Amino acid sequence: MWLANVAHRLALVSPDGQRYVDVERASDGQFSSAPQEVYERWQEFRSFAHGVPLDGGEILAREDLGSPAPEPRQVFAIGLNYRDHASETNSAIPEVPLVFTKFASSLCGPDVEVEHPGGSLDWEVELVVVVGERAQRIAPKDAWSHVAGVTVGQDFSERILQHSGVPPQFSLGKSYPNFGPMGPWLVTPDELTDPDDLEIGCLLNDQQVQKARTSDMIFSVPQLISRLSAVTPLLPGDVLFTGTPAGVGMGANPPRFLSVADRVISYVEGVGEIRNTIVARATA
Ligand code: ZN
Repeated sequence: MWLANVAHRLALVSPDGQRYVDVERASDGQFSSAPQEVYERWQEFRSFAHGVPLDGGEILAREDLGSPAPEPRQVFAIGLNYRDHASETNSAIPEVPLVFTKFASSLCGPDVEVEHPGGSLDWEVELVVVVGERAQRIAPKDAWSHVAGVTVGQDFSERILQHSGVPPQFSLGKSYPNFGPMGPWLVTPDELTDPDDLEIGCLLNDQQVQKARTSDMIFSVPQLISRLSAVTPLLPGDVLFTGTPAGVGMGANPPRFLSVADRVISYVEGVGEIRNTIVARATA
């Protein structure tokens, strides 16, 4: 199942991304049009969605897409979760997941423009997980059954603020407006041949800068869900940014950061891509 936020309304999308069906209308009001609400009734919704024909749907316009989980109660993000990324930033391999948050106001739809905040603006493609059923003290083997689906995310980061202070300001440096684009839609794990082994990559102005597989994660999605849920219940619709592989700007020699008019494309195999352009900060 492919699930999207189309002009702030929940929609089922055809696998080619060309057409969609509005969920509230298709269900005669049984399910809300609000994308975030679906996760509260995830299993019930899955059963309903199974029988909805998509071939007669309306044409999908990418500019109408928003985040498939636009208002999560909790947003988790993981630092240094790929060995080659830890190496390129001269960091030790973490022995436990390095957890921070992207504040919820930084989350947005897939193809937004991002205002350059000044400083050293960097890119980080990530696999993003959205929680389906509440997860509390979940074993790794049961973790995927608590996941609604996965989507593509960008963890835009301003490195000077991120690394200022002791301890550093990961959450704040990654939470300027539109620093958390997500989309283009949510794909349920059953649609993926192996949800633990997907190609993930990022292109900057059509040049490939990141390319890896999610199987290279130090802490896999099941391990992250298990470790996080041992402490904090993961609630329906919560968002988890799972970390970025090597190839970010601060890891380049010399370091390289984003400028106005740069175009960033981020993708995950079997899910899709998101497209972001850096624009000048509005005055005022
Ligand atoms: Zn990140």
